[in-house]
Amino acid sequence: MSSTQQLLVAGGGIGGLAAALAVARAGWEVRVLERAAAFNQVGAGIQLGPNVTRILCAWGLERELVAVAAFPDRLQVRSALTGDELGVLPLGRRAFDRYGAPYATLHRADLHRLLCTAAVRQGGVQLRLDRTLASFHDDGRAVTLTTDAGQQIEGDALLGADGVWSRARQQLVGDGPPRVTGHLAYRAMLRQSALPEALRTTQVTAWLGPRLHVVQYPVRRGEWMNVVAIVHGPPPAGAENWDHGANAADLLRATGAVCAPLRELLAAAPAASVNPHAWRLWALADRAPVRAAGQMARGRVALLGDAAHPMPPYLAQGAGMAIEDAAELARALAMDTVEVPTRLARYAQARWQRVARVQARAIRNGRIFHATGLARVGRDTSIRLLGERVLDVPWLYGG
Ligand SMILES: Cc1cc2nc3c(=O)[nH]c(=O)nc-3n(C[C@H](O)[C@H](O)[C@H](O)COP(=O)(O)OP(=O)(O)OC[C@H]3O[C@@H](n4cnc5c(N)ncnc54)[C@H](O)[C@@H]3O)c2cc1C
Repeated sequence: MSSTQQLLVAGGGIGGLAAALAVARAGWEVRVLERAAAFNQVGAGIQLGPNVTRILCAWGLERELVAVAAFPDRLQVRSALTGDELGVLPLGRRAFDRYGAPYATLHRADLHRLLCTAAVRQGGVQLRLDRTLASFHDDGRAVTLTTDAGQQIEGDALLGADGVWSRARQQLVGDGPPRVTGHLAYRAMLRQSALPEALRTTQVTAWLGPRLHVVQYPVRRGEWMNVVAIVHGPPPAGAENWDHGANAADLLRATGAVCAPLRELLAAAPAASVNPHAWRLWALADRAPVRAAGQMARGRVALLGDAAHPMPPYLAQGAGMAIEDAAELARALAMDTVEVPTRLARYAQARWQRVARVQARAIRNGRIFHATGLARVGRDTSIRLLGERVLDVPWLYGG
């Protein structure tokens, strides 16, 4: 079979770009069609476990990763109510020794740029902005994508990497819109040098409280800090346009009676923010875990990342799973002795149980992180007693 088969990718987010890079490395031509008129990754952070950085390093991106990431030395879990330390998971050297790859924290724009640059440098990848997938037609011989503007583009396979509100999924699986979870994420990006010394950090800190949690970590080699506070509340109007300006006073009201160090961090955010509007607000949406390979690929069309398996961010693995998907997709598409639909079916078969397990764990973590009453006391006690044993996730980080 020809080595110049063409993959169409709908969506140029982290998942779409990772797929473009991986599949181009496997010898395919790739056309990425992105709805936005400009690549404009929101000012938020992203944690990547060793299961993900291992893949980036295998793609030859270690130097680029080191140039933009931070490598926190530990994850500390604290009570949002009292400020007490509940447990610690060593990261840094320990994560590297245990899993053969680092635990990294990045600005999303840095990760996006790194993947975009690598995809263009790889060759065989075309990126087209301002192109929105409207629908597709798979006639068994090829797949034709139609854009909102009526343009038709034919390829050997189509990848729906168009995020949690995926149109590709609607046509392929047809299982309705995602669930709006009732959890709201407030995110801020702070300049560490603009914060009082006591509020700066080189580690990941997760503050667990009743009906809320807050995570903070360094990005950009430690120069900036990402803060995300997740609380319960009704979604703002237009949940699909999931990035809204947020009011700092609303956040302080929503977090309620948290301990002084956490309150000081949240209150200091506006003055140290790298953006004019310190807090951005997301309404979180997810789906139940994938139940079968057929939910991830049919015929010449496959799904990847949030389009395939959206999950709440309570295991910090949504983008990580998209990058793992990309690596597996490239392996499957490289099997050029079998038909394309069979390759995509193998991709889905190889991925669905792992992503379902990660989705289920992320949903479970949400219940634990936000536990109230006796469940919260039980949670705090078990983290205190078991520490690393409940905080480490070997089946996930081991790959
Ligand atoms: C608060 C929060 C914290 C998170 N923290 C982490 C973390 O620490 N680690 C981690 O691994 N993950 C994290 N995630 C999850 C992660 O952000 C997502 O899983 C990841 O961005 C999914 O990438 P994607 O490319 O699949 O989708 P997206 O990033 O949503 O990209 C989809 C792209 O498709 C485009 N698009 C949409 N519709 C169309 C269309 N019809 N045609 C063409 N293009 C289209 C969009 O414009 C977008 O560029 C977090 C998420 C949240 C909300």
